[in-house]
Amino acid sequence: MDMESVPDTGSQVRTLLVLGASGDLTGRLLLPGLARLLASGRAPGLMLAGAGSADFTPADWHQRVDTVFASAKSGATPQGSSELDRIAANTSYSSLDVTAPGELSRLLATLPGPIAVYFALPPAVSQRACEALVPGELPEGTLFVMEKPFGSDAVSARALNQTLVRLVPEANIHRVDHFLGKGTVFNILGLRFANRILEPVFSADHVAKMEIFYDEDLALEDRAGYYDHAGALRDMIQSHLLQILALLTMNAPATLGERDVRDHLGSVLRATSVAGTPADSSRRARYAAGTSQGRQVPDYASERGVDPARGTETLAEVTLKVNNSRWAGVPFILRAGKALGVARKEAVITFKPVAHLPDGFKGIDFPTTLRIGFGPDTLQLDLDVNSPGDLFTLDRVTLEAELSSTDLLPYGEVLLGVLSGDPTLSVRGDTAEECWRIVDPVLAAWAADEVPLEEYPAGGPGPAGWDTNGTAPQ
Ligand code: NDP
Repeated sequence: MDMESVPDTGSQVRTLLVLGASGDLTGRLLLPGLARLLASGRAPGLMLAGAGSADFTPADWHQRVDTVFASAKSGATPQGSSELDRIAANTSYSSLDVTAPGELSRLLATLPGPIAVYFALPPAVSQRACEALVPGELPEGTLFVMEKPFGSDAVSARALNQTLVRLVPEANIHRVDHFLGKGTVFNILGLRFANRILEPVFSADHVAKMEIFYDEDLALEDRAGYYDHAGALRDMIQSHLLQILALLTMNAPATLGERDVRDHLGSVLRATSVAGTPADSSRRARYAAGTSQGRQVPDYASERGVDPARGTETLAEVTLKVNNSRWAGVPFILRAGKALGVARKEAVITFKPVAHLPDGFKGIDFPTTLRIGFGPDTLQLDLDVNSPGDLFTLDRVTLEAELSSTDLLPYGEVLLGVLSGDPTLSVRGDTAEECWRIVDPVLAAWAADEVPLEEYPAGGPGPAGWDTNGTAPQ
């Protein structure tokens, strides 16, 4: 979606309050996303406030905001540029313990509303902060923005949902999944539902298997504090890749309205479960020392901050099934991993062969695929055509396109939805619980060591038998 075609929704939220002002997410993703959004002029009239512990001062916050906003000015519209200046000059910082009863609600009472409260806090702190809030004490129209991971299993996600809906209505809760950026979501929905040649073939009648890969060539990048508690399954598959799966398998909604889209996403995830037993439908591995992108990568277990006893996986694969008439019998393979030789971020839809290939044709004996790449969003569709020489021999051609994308960073897209009060692209509470329900059996089996933890050298193709080398799946 290009900038001109993005509806100017205006900003209904008056103040964005960032809890965790000194944190990594705020500095690396949230403020740059906000700056790009402001620079485009699409969030006029917003106020920004930060909050965090006493170790971080108002001067630190101002410096953080100034630095990030200054670097967004080069691409800013005239209106965006003055917004960046105005917000940077007026932003405030409060030091508080968000988990202490009364502290957060006292701060909220001083800010112009409606307020979007962004919980850029460790998950356990977010939970305690919400538990410390009292229903009825929040200013009218307060929105909550919750980061991933949302809970740590289906039970804790349900408990967190119950805590939240005591405080604000479900429509005011934005559970962030930055993979659900408008560009990627609408590209998948447009591709599937606006094309007669594709819409009917997204079913078990035509699709042999679907794979969703998120292979990274990056290793831990000093993020043990978060990642060693999460691992590849929780970090990527439970959240982002299941959302992509839902977009690729949902039935067509009647409209692109919030309720239609999220009902259909929720419905297909409710039909989704592990294909067999966790032991025969999942694999896990972690990287050993190796060379990635010309750099020496140490053994995962000896990376700074890693507790080897946790047995955290850096590569995970799960085979799922979707139990409905559209998809019965089709395997869905979801994989995410770090420190792999080839970065491969794509969904691969592998089609069945035609019911009968006329006798006489020769040449190609592996199936055609549709590949949808993520970030940048791309498309590759295989077709078999007659070769120019021997007309009985088929040649594989691949149609390629770069799909339109937005000028916003993923967190700018997240914030655009939040600030305009549109939860369409955030994860609904029931869906967040479903995503845990799908992976919980695998996590339990791994915790009980029912599935071996394999090993692969960093920078390589992964353990034997894993198709992580970027070639076409056969
Ligand atoms: P950090 O540990 O870097 O930051 C946490 C922030 O919370 C710090 O600013 C810290 O302040 C503040 N904080 C902790 N306890 C309190 C308290 N009691 N009262 C007030 N402030 C408190 O975490 P991240 O930024 O990495 O992660 C934040 C959230 O975002 C997590 O849920 C994470 O899973 C999620 N996330 C992070 C990503 C990332 O790339 N970092 C990516 C996707 C999601 P201080 O240090 O001053 O105590």
